[in-house]
Amino acid sequence: MKVLSGLTLEEITTFVQEMNASKFRAKQIHNWIYSKSVSSIDEMTDLAKSFREELKQKAVVTDTKIKLKQESSDGTLKYLIEYPDGECVETVLMRFDNRANLTACVSSQVGCAVNCSFCATGKRGFIRNLSYQEIIEQVLTIQRDTGLKVTNIVFMGQGEPLLNLNNVLKALDIFNNDFQIGARRITISTSGIIPKIEELAKHELQSTLAISLHAPVHQIRKKIMPIEEKYPLDKLKPALLNYIEKTGRRITIEYILIKDFNSDIETAKELAFFLKDIKCNINLIPYNDVTNTGYKKPSNNEIMKFKYLLEHSGKKVTVRLERGADIDAACGQLSGKIKNNPN
Ligand code: SAH
Ligand code: SF4
Repeated sequence: MKVLSGLTLEEITTFVQEMNASKFRAKQIHNWIYSKSVSSIDEMTDLAKSFREELKQKAVVTDTKIKLKQESSDGTLKYLIEYPDGECVETVLMRFDNRANLTACVSSQVGCAVNCSFCATGKRGFIRNLSYQEIIEQVLTIQRDTGLKVTNIVFMGQGEPLLNLNNVLKALDIFNNDFQIGARRITISTSGIIPKIEELAKHELQSTLAISLHAPVHQIRKKIMPIEEKYPLDKLKPALLNYIEKTGRRITIEYILIKDFNSDIETAKELAFFLKDIKCNINLIPYNDVTNTGYKKPSNNEIMKFKYLLEHSGKKVTVRLERGADIDAACGQLSGKIKNNPN
């Protein structure tokens, strides 16, 4: 069975032409999938009934299931989505009261090989890459379920997007062309896979690149991010400078704040020094609880001091609001497994 979700207009056209149908049919199907977010062929009511029956013999709109849906007290929705092979990922929809934006936080892999010490996804190890269709499907699932249109995408769910770059790039194209979500409304977050950052620089990527820095010096970073051994800060920095020059875009630096580890005043100064000539905004992420790490988040006072020092260096600094922590949907809490399953 052909899965229609996640196909481009050209791919749908090729498919319907094989059934001797016209290009116009492809446009109609495309519209039902991306603009009207239907979940079945029967809902495509402007297609002739006979054509719908024929289509149903060969294709389905989707082959994924919502295994679990949870709503946080702050309105954040978390979906556990199951693919036909039984693997699951989580996708989060964040709504911000004061804005019309609807941001989907999507996963790019099942599990993750990078194994950062503070992250629930890393604890599972790497299971497999998601295809571009499986990435797209996460956003369509949200749209179908809520009847709303997603306006922003962040690749900040499970997985390291730059270790599944081909599928991520293809998904970006589809978000741009088929969903009409502008490149600048899409953010890709990475732990710092240098060769892939170089590749993105060549593409002159217009989406925002977010770097999970989390420490300004090698000795501290390698304690929480094993990837620092392979792609250390002194090599990451020139790659970032080159990326900024090639794309003309400001990057985002993500910095997790862990109490008594990387959130003291000395480290803030070292961070400001490391970032001095990098055109970036800084996003501080107070550590979210993950089982058995032993880490804690700093006090609000410590967070504000850290922020103040960085701002003093001339950078724009934001503190990421914790979203959906009561349903384990906050940054780093996505494991892809059912916890406290009510069923
Ligand atoms: N793999 C990519 C994207 C997914 S994680 C990356 O690492 O960049 C999205 C962000 O959440 C990253 O900055 C990640 O480091 C951060 N994060 C992971 N675990 C966290 C935790 N327990 N508390 C707060 N942030 C966390
Ligand atoms: Fe992978 Fe990102 Fe989690 Fe690190 S923080 S283990 S790179 S998903």
